[in-house]
Amino acid sequence: MKPLSHQTIRRLELAARKAADSAYAPYSNFKVGAAVLGGSGKIYRGCNVENASYGLCNCAERTAIFSAVAAGERTLKAVLVYTPTPTPTMPCGACRQVINEFGPQAVVISLCNSSQRRTRLLPDLLGDAFGPGNLAESSPQRRNPPAVH
Ligand SMILES: [Zn+2]
Repeated sequence: MKPLSHQTIRRLELAARKAADSAYAPYSNFKVGAAVLGGSGKIYRGCNVENASYGLCNCAERTAIFSAVAAGERTLKAVLVYTPTPTPTMPCGACRQVINEFGPQAVVISLCNSSQRRTRLLPDLLGDAFGPGNLAESSPQRRNPPAVH
């Protein structure tokens, strides 16, 4: 995969920082912004959205990814996470799994309010991942879709 340009990373960073301003985090007060680069080249942003029923909280990364998918994207090239903290925060396990669905080779970048940053490839964050290929192996219908008449 072609490395991301400095300009693209900067665009992702600005989108993620803006998204963090919209975070709804009254319980944890841990605001997160994310931006994803879709296969089309468009950028989508998302923030964490908490809920009084804690189990219903949604991470910024998944909010951004679901927005991208809702807009028609089916592949992701990169995910950038921003937290207004002294150290970078990497995506949680659930988000890593969701990134894998659309961007198994995605670049994952984490930025914060210091100069620290982390850049990884998704396979380094989610080794031997379960994914769409596992289901295709077990489903004859997925291997041989019915003919359209
Ligand atoms: Zn998450």
